[in-house]
Amino acid sequence: MKTTLRKKIGTTVFEFEFEEGKAKDALFTAAGLVAIPETCGLCHSSNVQLISQKAEKEGKTYKYIKVRCSDCRATSTMGENLDGVNVFWKKFEAYTPSNQSRNTEQSQASNHEEDVSVDDIPF
Ligand SMILES: [Zn+2]
Repeated sequence: MKTTLRKKIGTTVFEFEFEEGKAKDALFTAAGLVAIPETCGLCHSSNVQLISQKAEKEGKTYKYIKVRCSDCRATSTMGENLDGVNVFWKKFEAYTPSNQSRNTEQSQASNHEEDVSVDDIPF
């Protein structure tokens, strides 16, 4: 069963086409795509866009798909269930500069108080 689905996110219209053997599977896939947020969950702006981010952790590369609000910069991240078949969208999270640029390796390395100078404390 071939399914075509059009979805407008911000100013971009995406056309998804996928093939599933069973109608139930097709609807299962379609449901995750239909659920992509079209408006910001915080400020309700429709000025949102689909973005992708890559992160490396312990030698593995993780890919993140997000919908970001261009007005308040809040983001909703796509989640996957364990078998990777079904996707869902998390609640919009408000933009905080410290979360975006925090280096986890750096915070783990500075456990010893004597190694931290006043200049290293982020405000
Ligand atoms: Zn917003």
